[in-house]
This record gives sequence, C-alpha cells and structure tokens, in this order.
Amino acid sequence: MSQSRPRDITVLGAGPAGLTAAKLLADGGWSVRLVASCARQSRAIALPAETEAMFADIWGKPVQEFVPTHRLSQRRVAWSGPAADVIEIAALSLDAAELAAGLETCLSGVEIIADVPSDTGTYLIDARGPALPEACQITAGKRTMAVWPALPLEPRLSHQSETLAGDGFWMFLLPTSCDRMTVQLATPEARLDLSRLAKRLRHAPGGTLSAHLAPLLGSLETEPPHHTAIAPRLGPPPASAAALPAGDRAVSFDPISGDGTGQGLRSVCLAVGALNALAEGGSAAAILGHVANRYDFAFSSHLTHCLRYYGSIQVPDAWSGEIHEMRQALSQIDPRRTTERPALRMHFEGIRGPILADA
Ligand SMILES: Cc1cc2nc3c(=O)[nH]c(=O)nc-3n(C[C@H](O)[C@H](O)[C@H](O)COP(=O)(O)OP(=O)(O)OC[C@H]3O[C@@H](n4cnc5c(N)ncnc54)[C@H](O)[C@@H]3O)c2cc1C
Repeated sequence: MSQSRPRDITVLGAGPAGLTAAKLLADGGWSVRLVASCARQSRAIALPAETEAMFADIWGKPVQEFVPTHRLSQRRVAWSGPAADVIEIAALSLDAAELAAGLETCLSGVEIIADVPSDTGTYLIDARGPALPEACQITAGKRTMAVWPALPLEPRLSHQSETLAGDGFWMFLLPTSCDRMTVQLATPEARLDLSRLAKRLRHAPGGTLSAHLAPLLGSLETEPPHHTAIAPRLGPPPASAAALPAGDRAVSFDPISGDGTGQGLRSVCLAVGALNALAEGGSAAAILGHVANRYDFAFSSHLTHCLRYYGSIQVPDAWSGEIHEMRQALSQIDPRRTTERPALRMHFEGIRGPILADA
C-alpha cells in the first residue's frame, strides 16, 4: 500500500512558471521555499486571451491587477503575401519581468530566499528558464532573435500588433504603450549579422512593411539590439522528483507561437499534479514517465505548428536549414514516446478546488 511522503519543496526560479508553481503548491498545503534571484530580464510579451484566462483562474484575479498592460485589439499576420493570412486576436502586451514582480508580492505562505539552500528538501521544481542547449534533450534549430525594446510607434498602430515575414527574417511589432513598441526580429542564423540584416530589410516588400521598417533601419546603426536564441528546446528529462523541470526549463517555444507563457502555466499544472501524486506514494516511474510523455507531446505539437508557419513563409529558402532541423527533431521524438500510457490519475490542487483528471 502506498504511503504519504513529506510535502516540502524548493522551487528554483521566480519567473511566471516558478511563481505559479509556488502558489499552487502552497495553496495545496505544501511547505514551499522559492529561490528568487533579484535579476529579472525585462521582456515585452503578448498574452493571448487563453493565457490571460489561465492566469485569472490560477491567481484568482485578472492579470491587469498584477501589472500594467496595454490592450491590443488586433494581432495582424501578413505572412505569405501582402493581403493574406490576416488573423485578428485580442491580446494584452505587458512586461514579463514586471508581471513576475507583481505576482511575487501576492504570494502567501511561501518562504522566499535568495540562494539555493544546501538541503533542498525531498522535492524540487526547476523553473530557472531555458536550459543551455548542451543540457537539453533536443534543440530544434539555431535561429536567433534581435529585440529592440522601445522604438517609436505610429499612433494609428498603437492597438495593433503585427507579424510580418520577409526574405530571411520574420518580425513581430508589439505595441507596449500608445507611442512605443518592441520590435522582435527573427533570422535563421545563430549569430546576427547586422549589416546583412540591414540589406535584407532594405529589400523587404513595400506597403505596410516599409512604413514599419523606416524607424527600424535608423535604429540599426544607433541602437544595437538584444540577441536571444529562440529555437524550440526540449529540456532535460524529468528523471527524478529531486528535479522536476517546469516552464521554459521543461519546454521552450519559438516566440512565433505567442504561447510560451501559456505552455509554462500548463507545464506547472502538470508538474504540481505529478508532485501531489508522488507525495501520495504513487509510482515514481509511472508519474515521471507520464510527465516526460506530456512534455514530449507539447514539444512535438509545437514543432508541427512551427513547421506550418515556417513552411508557409513566402520566401522560404533561408529557413530550409531550420525546417530540416525541426523535422529531424520530430523524428527523434516519435519513436521514444511510449505507446502504453501509465494508468494514473492526477490530483491538481489549488485551482478553484480539487480537480481530478485522467492522465
Ligand atoms: C524574445 C521572446 C519573446 C517572447 N514572447 C512571448 C509572447 O509574446 N507571449 C508569450 O506568452 N511568451 C513569450 N515568450 C516566452 C515567455 O517569455 C516564456 O515562456 C516565459 O517567460 C517562461 O517563464 P519561466 O518562468 O519558465 O522562465 P523565465 O521567465 O525565464 O524565468 C526564470 C527565472 O529564473 C531565474 N533564475 C535563473 N537562474 C536562477 C538561479 N540559479 N537561481 C534563482 N533564480 C534563477 C531568472 O532570473 C528568472 O527570473 C517569449 C520569449 C522570448 C525569448
């Protein structure tokens, strides 16, 4: 017969995933220590309505009560042609670091500490953001994103984000206030070559695109962007309850999906369910196997989604290497996935009362 185990846990990392894990576990009666480094990287993100709803469900209040937000009435995607693929989605833009700071002030029953303790207790959630590629099971490509955090914005576009693709790049224009936007520009290269990029931008298709590009071209010379690797990553496997990954540490999405934070919240709900099952004496092999399968599944679904996007760019040649690497990554996952799922019922706590879900 299974036996309950102690419910003490250390959560590493106080981004949206680590904070949400700490909250759900504390609400569920766990004794939680959260290791929060003081440095949080500012990053403008767009939260789609689904992620907004998930935050409100888990945290009990709308996201706007934790952080200043800017409402976007449209997200326009001109992808495979000037007039094609226009999708309109309600979204919010906000700063992910400010969101995390706002969530942290609302935590209760969690001990917040600055350094990893020598004794991390029986269980640990690792939510320290994306693992280095060499520590990941799979990194599907080498693409890079350049980010200009605060460029001037045409007032008429202040409620409209846009995703646009040109020759060898795609870009996301994200208004963050009535007169500023963050510009994110993805290229297939591991290292960004600014002069090559400037040449590509100058030869980008006209129309709406060139109106957006004018300030960006000026900024290329004066404001070097931040760089970040954006290829999807499947993090280290959840090999033991001593280090269960969650958030970007478990699966990190290409920003093209606009669903990185949503995936982080889903992975936290899964990890918390798994920890409850482990603490109740469930089979570690079955529970961790189930979590690994679910992370594999999230990663492969994301790759399929990315392949659709990158495969439909109007000038796709530059992305052929990335498309190849994503196909390779997909073929690595499928044979590993077990066909027989472990028989398991997972117990989620802290999300408006207990929920039992079939795994
Ligand atoms: C360019 C870009 C654009 C994106 N745009 C969007 C978007 O529009 N919409 C969206 O939903 N998602 C977007 N995402 C994804 C989103 O930002 C992430 O999915 C989300 O922030 C992941 O949250 P997390 O808590 O897992 O990790 P993080 O937010 O990375 O948090 C990890 C935390 O752990 C801390 N930490 C690291 N090491 C240690 C340590 N040793 N000890 C203690 N603490 C540590 C870090 O300081 C950080 O605070 C984007 C990502 C990128 C790169």
